[in-house]
Amino acid sequence: MEKEDCIFCKIISKEIPTDLLYEDDQVIVFKDINPLAPVHLLLVPKKHIRSINDLEDADKTVVVDLIMAAKEMAAKMSVDKSGYRLFFNVEKGGGQEVFHLHLHLIGGWE
Ligand code: 5GP
Ligand code: ZN
Repeated sequence: MEKEDCIFCKIISKEIPTDLLYEDDQVIVFKDINPLAPVHLLLVPKKHIRSINDLEDADKTVVVDLIMAAKEMAAKMSVDKSGYRLFFNVEKGGGQEVFHLHLHLIGGWE
């Protein structure tokens, strides 16, 4: 999929309005539209990268930024102490449906 057709690029460019929970120069965070848990966030790098398979050496900071943002957001959403899961779906067989790299954060179960 090209960047022009990418729904997450459109969210990043504000072409599609979305409630952003966090934004900085590298990363945006918003709620998943179809949550799998009481808290389900998507942490998305502003750079269009298709999947984990497409990461290059120069993207190492992107991965660190996503994980550090996840840590901050877990605390902000008050699931840090109870616990949460972080995961990447990679390509179709791995469950990936949006081909712009993103980290899922789920938690908040009773
Ligand atoms: P994937 O399956 O690619 O790892 O995850 C894509 C996620 O993006 C899915 O959990 C899906 O619910 C979510 N999603 C897809 N389109 C939108 C959208 O337009 N807005 C939001 N907030 N989430 C979306
Ligand atoms: Zn994109």
